[in-house]
This record gives sequence, C-alpha cells and structure tokens, in this order.
Amino acid sequence: MCRMFESCRGHVNDDLLAILSTFGNDVVTDPDVVSTFTTDWTRRFHGPAAAVLRPRTVVALKSMLVALSGREVAIQIQGGNTGLVGGSVPPSHSTVPVVIVSTTHLKNIDAIDDVSGTLIVDAGVTLGEVNQLVSEHGWSFGVDLAARDTATIGGMCATNAGGIRVCAFGMMRENITGIEFVTLDGKTVSTLDKPAKNNTGLQLANLAIGSEGVLGVISRVRLRLRRASLSTTVAFIPCESIEIALGWVRKAQTLSSHMLAAEIVDATTMSLVINTHHLRPLWSATPSIALLLELEGDASNLELPDDALIGVTPSEQRELWKYRELASDSWTAVGDVHKLDVSVPLDRLPALCTDLAKIIAGNAHVTHGGFFGHLADGNLHIEIVGPAFDNFDVDREVLEQVATHHGSVSAEHGIGRAKAQFIHLAHDQAMLTLMADVKHVFDPHHQLNPGVIFPS
Ligand code: FAD
Repeated sequence: MCRMFESCRGHVNDDLLAILSTFGNDVVTDPDVVSTFTTDWTRRFHGPAAAVLRPRTVVALKSMLVALSGREVAIQIQGGNTGLVGGSVPPSHSTVPVVIVSTTHLKNIDAIDDVSGTLIVDAGVTLGEVNQLVSEHGWSFGVDLAARDTATIGGMCATNAGGIRVCAFGMMRENITGIEFVTLDGKTVSTLDKPAKNNTGLQLANLAIGSEGVLGVISRVRLRLRRASLSTTVAFIPCESIEIALGWVRKAQTLSSHMLAAEIVDATTMSLVINTHHLRPLWSATPSIALLLELEGDASNLELPDDALIGVTPSEQRELWKYRELASDSWTAVGDVHKLDVSVPLDRLPALCTDLAKIIAGNAHVTHGGFFGHLADGNLHIEIVGPAFDNFDVDREVLEQVATHHGSVSAEHGIGRAKAQFIHLAHDQAMLTLMADVKHVFDPHHQLNPGVIFPS
C-alpha cells in the first residue's frame, strides 16, 4: 500500500482503500488537500471526507461510481463548491466514510454548433469559461451569476441556477437543450444522443435539473446560446421604497425594448459593500433601495430621475454592477451569516420586506441583517447576522413567513442541507413521498449526497 493511501487509513476499511488505489492519479487522500474540499462557500457547512476523486473523463467517472456502488461509503458530489445551502460538502456526521467526487477535472468542450446555436460541455467547465468562449464567437449564454469564475455548468444544472438574467432568459432549465447524467450503477441517462426536438416519452434525463446531486452525477450538458446584445445600458436608480423600485421595473418592461436585469440592493447591504471593498459611495445619502436595471439599447424613453447613474461603456457598466455583485461576498466576510434565498409573488414583496424588518428587530439573537436580489423575479437574498450557525430559529421564522405569502423557501439556491428540515413548507407529504420514491429508484442504497434535500 503506498504512503498516500496509508494517510487515509483509519477513516476507511481495507476494501475501500483497495478500490480507491485503483483510481491512480485521479484520487487524492492527502488530508491537507482533502480538507480544501470539505467546507462550503458560506463556511456554515462542513464535514470530513476520506478522499476526493477527480475523474478526467466521463468513462473514468462511470467506473468510479460503479466501483463504489452498493458499498459502505457515501458519495458527495461537488462542482465549484459555490453553492450556498451546504449541499456541496459532506455531512458533519456520517456513519460511513464519505468520498467526494469532484467534477472540476471534467473539462471537455465541443465546437460551437453555429447553426443550432448550441454548445456541449463537460460538467466541470465553469460558467466563466463558457462566457469567454462563446463571446469570442459572437454568442452569449442566458444564465449569469456573480460566482461565474468558479461555478460549474454541472453544478448550475444540479441547482437549476437562476441569477441576474432570469427576467430575460429564464433559469438554467430554459437554457439547456440536452443533459446527460451517470447513475451509481453505471447507466447513462441522456437526451444528448438525440436532437433538441425529441418528444419520445418521459425524458428522465431532465430529472437531473434541480436534483442537487441526489440521483446521479451530471456529466455533459448541451447549452442553448443566444446572439449577444449589440448595445446595452445600465441604470442605477435610488428608490425610497420597494414599491417605487417595482414601479420602475413595470415602466422598463412596458417601454424598453428588452429588460436584461432588474436587481436591488438595500441600504444596509449597500453600506456594507462600500465599506468592505473600499468603494466610492454612489450617492450622498444611501437610498433605501438601489435598483439596477440593464436594458437592451438605451434608457432615454424611461425619463429617469437626475440622480440615476447611467453606464454606457463596458467599463462604466462593470463599475456599477460591482455594487450589486459584491453583495453576497460582503455579507460572507462579516462572519456567521445566515443566508436565505426566497421568492414571493411580486405583490407580496413589500409585505415580506416589512415582516423581515420586524423579524430582524424582534429576534434577540439577531444583531443586523439586510437583503439584495433579483427584483423582477420577486427573489430576495436575505442575510442575517447574530444567531450561531447551528441555531435555525431565525431561518424558520423567515421561511414560515415566506410560506404564508405563498412564496418559495428556495428560489434558486436549492434545498441542500440548510433547508432540508424546512422542505415541508414547500411540498405536502404525498409529494415528498413521491420524491423519495424517485430517489430510491436511482440510488437504492442512499449513497449519494446523504442529507441533501431529504433530511437524514
Ligand atoms: P456546487 O456548489 O459544487 O454544488 C451545488 C449542488 O449541486 C450540490 O448539491 C452538489 O452535490 C450538486 N452538484 C454539483 N455538481 C454536480 C454534478 N455534476 N452532478 C450532480 N450534482 C452536482 N445561484 C443562483 O442560482 N443565482 C445567483 O445569482 C447566484 N449568485 C451567487 C453569487 C455568489 C457570490 C456565490 C458564491 C454563489 C451564488 N449562487 C447563485 C450559488 C451558486 O453559485 C449556484 O448554486 C451554482 O449553481 C453552484 O454551482 P457549483 O458548480 O459551485 O456547484
């Protein structure tokens, strides 16, 4: 037994050690390296792993899964590890050893199909790599988010990621025309072997979208590309209230040619972004709500107020976007932050903001909180500071309030481990049983991502 494998003895039995050793250079067992995969982006979730597997081909991925299938080992799937609900790292406690399967070495990219406007990539390709490649050929991809340089296409499909362009192009589901995933017993479940137009019964491969890795490992994806916009305008508008911000969105939807983004940042978050990143304040007084609109063409027919800031050139636009895109990481830098991603119907948004202010003021553990998010989708990213990471009371208060507004307790980040105990707020028992039945079909020994979506 080589020394590298000796280092993980104690966590795993000899049988598993022998299997891991057959994966050659695609397996890491050095505890110092393994530990870089075991804590999530929020630092709220972490758990030990015996090894990390990094297959370079789909064939290698498949043989690893088959070798581990049915054994006393849990398998944690990980892409870029930018997920915000603890679904990308091992559970804190596990009765069996956990092996992480990281997709970050699955990097194959096919040639762009210029006729259909599609591109097939491996799961480990990052969104940033896709953006770079397609923009060089005059195309763009419809889903975009601030974690673009690290988030993988596989992870984005597994979470059905949303982001800043949902109001224009939809979520990940609407931006792919084919997907392939590999099950633990080595089956390839795919729509990639057929054209995009393919109505031939149940398309089981589509179950992988939003599955958060509980059914199998997404291996390849066919992306729908769009022609890049020729010219865009960014307008940052200070607003006194969420209702006023919604009024601007309504106007932009009615009068502008195409609204590409409608993002908000509340005053607490804006001040935090400015202080954390030493940015210049945009206005003499921080507005209650700052609304960032991105529009195709110009914004002249919107008759924006004098204190609205306009970005026309790419560098002006990047500068304005910074104040929105640095929001999540600015909160993360504060320390123990409870991150909640929720959505409600637009007419309930003002009431939710009022409820939120009450919860933040009324919970003895909470020191402060704020929000930012995707206004046109009724989607707020709520950040709450104060309660310990393992205290879920404030999460419960917020999510129950969201449910009373007929909202979703997870708009785009998924359920992961953070919200598994609250999934009953999203689905009734009959639906939960049906979901568990589907999981059992694909993962009969419940080895994949234990505790994700389904409370362990
Ligand atoms: P991971 O974090 O590695 O994994 C996420 C989940 O998917 C886990 O359950 C994991 O097991 C599973 N998974 C990963 N890869 C695979 C695979 N190949 N097959 C099967 N399962 C897999 N999200 C949004 O939706 N909109 C946003 O606007 C947004 N903004 C963000 C901004 C910042 C700064 C950060 C840090 C995150 C943001 N996110 C956002 C969250 C995150 O980027 C997305 O959830 C992203 O889709 C996760 O991709 P990933 O490759 O990092 O996946």
